[in-house]
Amino acid sequence: MLDLVFPPICLACDQPLHAGENDFCHDCLSSLTQENHYTCPRCTSSVGQFTDVSDGCSRCQNVKFHFDFAYRFGPYENLLREVLLRAKFGKLPIYGEALGRLWAKTDRERIAQHNPDVVLPVPLHWWRRLCRGFNQSQLLSQAWAKELGIAHVPRWLRRVRATPPQTQQVPSRRRKNMIGAFRTTVWSQFKGIKVLLVDDVLTTGSTLSEAARVIKQAGAKEVIAIVAAHRD
Ligand SMILES: [Zn+2]
Ligand SMILES: [Zn+2]
Repeated sequence: MLDLVFPPICLACDQPLHAGENDFCHDCLSSLTQENHYTCPRCTSSVGQFTDVSDGCSRCQNVKFHFDFAYRFGPYENLLREVLLRAKFGKLPIYGEALGRLWAKTDRERIAQHNPDVVLPVPLHWWRRLCRGFNQSQLLSQAWAKELGIAHVPRWLRRVRATPPQTQQVPSRRRKNMIGAFRTTVWSQFKGIKVLLVDDVLTTGSTLSEAARVIKQAGAKEVIAIVAAHRD
């Protein structure tokens, strides 16, 4: 009945959905799930097919990361960028929820092989979350928890400092900028476990790395960092 009043539309292109389509139309679905690049296993940057990435790529070779593995759903461009912008500024949680479901279903195998015990998002500072209404990364991590059947623990990590938007900073400043931004209040819970850490966009990796550092310091055995998109 509701469908007659509000016919379901694609969350990426706003065209009406056909029977059997959920959240995204067929064309948007194939565009969103298609990864056309080779990627750096350390920082998820796009790299050439024949680039030697055994020590990382030219972007990350001299950078220390505190997470153990990093994966991305795709590059921050075209439709994925559009859906992420909607997820962040769209004022409605449906974009993040739908993207999370699609991402978790598509990439399930390669993340499940690490057997994470819990999943949590990179937290937003409470003030920013209040302004936006939700943390878009938490919508994504929630979908991962459901897909993998593991505990979703967004409260285990807190952002204690509101940091200026990272996109306005040069890389060396970004790392300094993040120091002391996160804190955990559940030290004993992290001891000896594998943690799946979720963020929407990775640029230099300094935010994820600083969050991973705090989680590792609390005793976690492994941090697997995953991002919906990598911004080159
Ligand atoms: Zn579409
Ligand atoms: Zn790299």
